Amino acid sequence: MQLSKKVRFRSIALKSLFLIFLFFPTSFLSASEKIDVKNIRYWSYPGYTRVVIDISGTAEFTEHRLYKPERLYLDIKNSRIIEEMQTNISIGNGMLKSVRAGQFDNSTVRVVLDLENIRNYKIFTLEEPSRIIADIYGPTVFSSKKRIVIDAGHGGKDPGAVGPKRLYEKDVVLDIALKLKKILSDNPDIEIHLTRDRDVYISLDERTAIANGKDAELFVSLHANASPVRNIKGIETYFLNWTNDEEAQKVAARENDISLKQMKNEMKKKKDVLDIMLGDLNRGYKRDESIKLANYVQQSMVNELDRNYRNIVDLGVKWSWFYVLVGAKMPSVLVEVSFISNPLEAKLLRKDSYRSDLARSIASGINRYMSIMPKGQTVADTRKSIASRD
Ligand SMILES: [Zn+2]
Repeated sequence: MQLSKKVRFRSIALKSLFLIFLFFPTSFLSASEKIDVKNIRYWSYPGYTRVVIDISGTAEFTEHRLYKPERLYLDIKNSRIIEEMQTNISIGNGMLKSVRAGQFDNSTVRVVLDLENIRNYKIFTLEEPSRIIADIYGPTVFSSKKRIVIDAGHGGKDPGAVGPKRLYEKDVVLDIALKLKKILSDNPDIEIHLTRDRDVYISLDERTAIANGKDAELFVSLHANASPVRNIKGIETYFLNWTNDEEAQKVAARENDISLKQMKNEMKKKKDVLDIMLGDLNRGYKRDESIKLANYVQQSMVNELDRNYRNIVDLGVKWSWFYVLVGAKMPSVLVEVSFISNPLEAKLLRKDSYRSDLARSIASGINRYMSIMPKGQTVADTRKSIASRD
């Protein structure tokens, strides 16, 4: 009798429990012991996406990969979704279509990552606050290192501007580029690529393609200025923009290896095309960032050289239509380090110490800009104030 009473009691208890399950799904169940799945956030970079699932405490989970359609899912044990959470997040960045979360059963939250085209993924947890992180890598090889492409203007059959005693722009800027690479390489987080590291000819288009192909974060083209007026001197830094300023057109025409007349025609005839291209630049915020980068580099050069040299002339940040900057996907500038046509500056440009000082000051401008530059990610916080779960 004793035994059957026990059995009957257990049976009633189970029935009651069943009824509780039936009428109070998930939320009622020993809420204090469950892990809340609170929010899903993501950051999207080129070739890389990070998805973060915020949870209320350390959770056990399993991960599974499925194909046709490709997806990755995580089952978070002993967990529940909180009411306010958005459970369907559309991403559509070529790597992930979307991320969905649902109460799979009474004690399991399932988070599904709908995949598009991925190379690799990594799932791990971090604490304080607790979160599960899914790092998704796209098909392109991604490096977490910041990459900068330094472009030494001209080269090979193209000497660039020629100063007194056959001082060639191509040689001066190559030496500064090599020095700049060496200085910037002190930072192990920065990868430096040169468009050329010797005296070779490279087309302007190829230089930009190198920067885009390397998926660089910054592109810095180095040049020495020239003017038929020999006493003109100074330092100036350019970003890409349409201009009707004749002096800026002259500089671009020389660097583009076209005549001023061709340059003027291009500015006139192609304004519509140029507007479209500049629209692209603006949409990507590349122009704002290029302006910032130009200012950092220019200020740094002027301030640092001013300490060691007399009569450093600050010609400021300017803009013009430089072919080498057209189509660059990243913030990009063209630096005119000094006038090779000016006898005093040509004398300085011959000196190893001046070239080193130029490289150092450009490097500190780049470093300062990088310390404030945006990371290029889009951030979406998917928390919603209104409950969407039924
Ligand atoms: Zn040049």
